[in-house]
Amino acid sequence: MRIDLHAHSTASDGTLRPAQVVEAAVEAGLDVVALTDHDTTSGWAEAQAALPAGLTLIRGAELSCRWYNGSDSIGLHLLAYLFDPSDAALAAELERVRESRERRAERMVELLRADGIDASIEEVRGYAAGGTIGRPHLAALLIRRGLVGTVSEAFAPEWLGARYRVRKEDIDVFRAVALVRAAGGVPVFAHPRASVRGRIVPDSLIVELAGAGLLGLEVEHEDHSPAERVHVRELAGELGLLVTGSSDFHGANKTVKLGANTTDPQEYQKIVELAHGLEPVR
Ligand code: AMP
Ligand code: FE
Ligand code: FE
Ligand code: ZN
Repeated sequence: MRIDLHAHSTASDGTLRPAQVVEAAVEAGLDVVALTDHDTTSGWAEAQAALPAGLTLIRGAELSCRWYNGSDSIGLHLLAYLFDPSDAALAAELERVRESRERRAERMVELLRADGIDASIEEVRGYAAGGTIGRPHLAALLIRRGLVGTVSEAFAPEWLGARYRVRKEDIDVFRAVALVRAAGGVPVFAHPRASVRGRIVPDSLIVELAGAGLLGLEVEHEDHSPAERVHVRELAGELGLLVTGSSDFHGANKTVKLGANTTDPQEYQKIVELAHGLEPVR
């Protein structure tokens, strides 16, 4: 069984449509794929309708969260699997984050324009094509203007990494864990050691989150070094958390291929058994 539990489509910042993601999953030799777009469930129906025979779809999302620690705070991502999308509290929170992403994109466009860069929110919205708007869509504008060559270059500090970065209003991570559990879902901390993307949280927070209902840690991820994978796996063992491995596929917005990292079948079974919001789609 080849299981990849983290993939993005045009419903957020991936470049393949949901229907194309499930086709690509079959080509990549996967038996199970999870669609985990940022702060939205809007890609699920298309993926489900296009689901090829023999492939199982896990409906999920990746929640933009934040750990508030006194006057400091650190952003982090929480994967949520098989939650009930009609849960009103969780749906409202996702809607609020998407709205905040819109306002943030507008402000980032203003900052670019203030520096003489030809930018408009309409053009950025065009790249987002109705999906959750994010920095990769601003990266598309910078590439179009010839200011950077790749999405990855657009995340350098002089661009979207710091200079033109505006903070969005993320979900308090403890609230997110509670909301996902209340909606019958399984919360898994995405790439907890991905220091290439920004600051990472201390292990003490992961211990607290495990006490607050977190159920798993993403171990096998391209942003984790071999030593970090060993460390996160050991931490999960100590805390009784399940472990996953995933590509975090984003189509052409990242170089990683679907199935580049995979989840152990026993760990996948734990997710299915712990969830009571939705069933896998076969
Ligand atoms: P946002 O959620 O709008 O702040 O944008 C974050 C998204 O940008 C992540 O989910 C990745 O898809 C992408 N991203 C972050 N860092 C990089 C990077 N260094 N290179 C390419 N894409 C990145
Ligand atoms: Fe992304
Ligand atoms: Fe992420
Ligand atoms: Zn992701």
